[in-house]
Amino acid sequence: MDRHLVKPGDPVGVGGSATEAAAAVRGPWLISYEGFDPDREGLREALCATGNGYFATRGAAPEAIADGVHYPGTYVAGAFNRLESDVGGRTVGNESLVNVPNWLPLTFRLDGGPWFRIDEVELLDYTQQLDLRRGVLTRRVRFRDSEGRHTSANQRRFVSMADRHLGALELTIHAEDWSGLVEVRSGIDGAVENKGVKRYRDLPSDHLDEVEVGAASSGVIELQARTSESRILIAEAVRTSVRGDGEREVERLLVREPASVAEEISFPIAAGETVRVEKTVGLHTSRDPAISEPMLAARRALEHAGTFAEMLEAHVLRWGQIWERVGISLEEGRRAGGILNLHVFHLLQTVSEHSVGLDVGVPARGLHGEAYRGHIFWDELFVFPFLTVHVPELSRSLLLYRMRRLPEARHAAREAGCIGAMFPWQSGSDGREETQVVHLNPRSGRWLPDHSHLQRHINVAIAYNLWQYHKATGDIEFLVEHGAEVLLEIARFWASVARYDRVRQRYVIEGVVGPDEYHDAYPDAPAPGIDNNAYTNLMAAWVLWRALDVLEQLPEERRTQLCERLLLDRPELDCWEHASRWMFVPFDGLIISQFEGYEKLDELDWEGYRRRYGDIDRLDRILEAEGDSTNRYQASKQADVLMLFYLLSAEELADLFDRLGYPFAPEAIPANIDYYLQRTSDGSTLSRVVHSWVLARSRRPESWRLLREALESDIADVQGGTTAEGIHLGAMAGTVDLVQRGYTGLELRDEALWLNPRLPDEITRLEFSLRYRRHWGIRVQIGDGVLRVSVPRSDAPPIRFGYRDQLIELGPGETFEAPLDGG
Ligand code: BGC
Repeated sequence: MDRHLVKPGDPVGVGGSATEAAAAVRGPWLISYEGFDPDREGLREALCATGNGYFATRGAAPEAIADGVHYPGTYVAGAFNRLESDVGGRTVGNESLVNVPNWLPLTFRLDGGPWFRIDEVELLDYTQQLDLRRGVLTRRVRFRDSEGRHTSANQRRFVSMADRHLGALELTIHAEDWSGLVEVRSGIDGAVENKGVKRYRDLPSDHLDEVEVGAASSGVIELQARTSESRILIAEAVRTSVRGDGEREVERLLVREPASVAEEISFPIAAGETVRVEKTVGLHTSRDPAISEPMLAARRALEHAGTFAEMLEAHVLRWGQIWERVGISLEEGRRAGGILNLHVFHLLQTVSEHSVGLDVGVPARGLHGEAYRGHIFWDELFVFPFLTVHVPELSRSLLLYRMRRLPEARHAAREAGCIGAMFPWQSGSDGREETQVVHLNPRSGRWLPDHSHLQRHINVAIAYNLWQYHKATGDIEFLVEHGAEVLLEIARFWASVARYDRVRQRYVIEGVVGPDEYHDAYPDAPAPGIDNNAYTNLMAAWVLWRALDVLEQLPEERRTQLCERLLLDRPELDCWEHASRWMFVPFDGLIISQFEGYEKLDELDWEGYRRRYGDIDRLDRILEAEGDSTNRYQASKQADVLMLFYLLSAEELADLFDRLGYPFAPEAIPANIDYYLQRTSDGSTLSRVVHSWVLARSRRPESWRLLREALESDIADVQGGTTAEGIHLGAMAGTVDLVQRGYTGLELRDEALWLNPRLPDEITRLEFSLRYRRHWGIRVQIGDGVLRVSVPRSDAPPIRFGYRDQLIELGPGETFEAPLDGG
């Protein structure tokens, strides 16, 4: 028999490069893995996670426990808990997104033999596939056991996009050449901890207490746990049914343990027969709106859930609708299209229409793992542009996460001796600063002080996001009711943190950290922080300027009320105006200095380090382990100055410099790009997205190369192990946005939708739909040398549409077409 024999530990590649061997992207919709590869199982689990914006479950094998190879994890958006740890003799508190009880456990044994374990059978076929279009994870297992019996055990699973409280798993057992007794064990495991990140493993990680288990009725088991500090109740109810041709007679035995519960279900099977086991979970927490009590709600969710097939149908329908709304169709002949879909898929599994109305933010590492403890950073800056042109109500809802934490941000500003609102670098449940105070360098084994909380530029990102949302949607109610207040309070913070330097006659901002985390202090300085980070200063001036604009745009009554309430008077506004015109920006000739004194730092021997270490993405760890520090070198972790060209168009930047009285000509931009490209290690996955973006219009081949590298960030785990701990959501969303906005020149400004496509040569056709103002499904098609924009029929007013410098009205049912040449 010519069989494809796969043994455990025997990764089966599918040809092509090393990265392609790790995961095959089979067309635009299928991610496929052949063979079982223990070393990369964690990576697959993260990349094959299934979720719906309310909760997500890693793609762990259902028979697995956390054992160093496998790491089952389920995370509910916004469910955090704080634990205190003793680190290097000091007590530190860390808030983490909690790994909630595992609803997956499902295994089986044949005729009283050992429970199925992948490493104890001879695998004949092992394929794992993620169907992006339908949102279904499939695992095909065929094996020969020690008795020589041949069995296949195939699984399908999804976390429902149709009902956010449901997930389902199906196991199909086929006895090829034997008859006997099958016992299936289906359980809920509450003995889980947050052990997903090696660096944190020695810290306390047990977030759940008061675990209660039970059975509601035959076939339904339940587990409820409570988080130890935040006292969130998490309730899971699980139903397991067995079907052959219709429901099947089975025997059930309830197995209760202190922190877990399971049913052992036994039934006979005959050679050639196939039996399906369906497991459905209803999951609720005490944070949910519109429930009486979480376990009652979980039970009800389960009662109302149909069969696996029925739930699947509703789920697939919902994904179909999502893809119609957000899908990008791309012809480029390689794997980019499939990876872009994977990125959209994970973005919408982390935040989706199911997140709307919940008090949740955008976790930097998705709901896919425990890196950065599920915290919320500035990465949403890379996520909102995509969401806003497809699901603006989701952007609105996620922006409210910040709004609700305004009181805490005001408090933080006061504590720092400022006024206004100072949002934290890392945010969790209540909006206090969650950045760790020490971090571990795994290379040196040393715990080091962490000054990344000095990244006050998060307060640029939040203001920028609010402003962009307003510009794109024209949602004046949001601005009036929520956005303006946050923006004004952030502006106030910037005005108060900036100090007027009489000698320079300019405002300076001292003691901060810019986006580049490799510089958190001057070499050998006693205190952390650097001065006048150009990105921070310029964007602070931008925020102050925008805040003045926002006040202008508010209806007069609201403006007066808000100013009264915030005690905002003319002298303070004059001060904002002054600071927005006189902010200091450090230059070294034509080059914008990343911060004051950056150009005086030593040059790094990049070649030497690359030769010695190969991968120098995490140069900070390498140098620290050598007893040196990145603070001494002109070496940046990620785009910092170049963020300016990412966020602002050349015209906007020119206006800003002009207002500040600095003679910065757009012609200096390429020199700045070159300077920083040569000095950046891309130690953050966000970096390549920005670099690709800033080259998108002028140096397309380089931009495309960088985009392709950025696309590999997670699927090929380019940082060697970080993806297993959670996807990089900012980079995922950023790559999609780059194709959709960067290469098409899509802009929402001056009450008009603008396009000016310049695709890389490798992309021959690009199509997507947009939601703009009251129009759902404006279709953009670029290909065959033509741009075509069609507005669907409706009774909405025409849109203002700009192509290059032509501005027209485009009404419902109308199509605009223009040749693309001469771009
Ligand atoms: C990057 C930050 C980012 C964070 C979370 C860090 O490595 O330097 O810019 O916000 O990861 O993704």
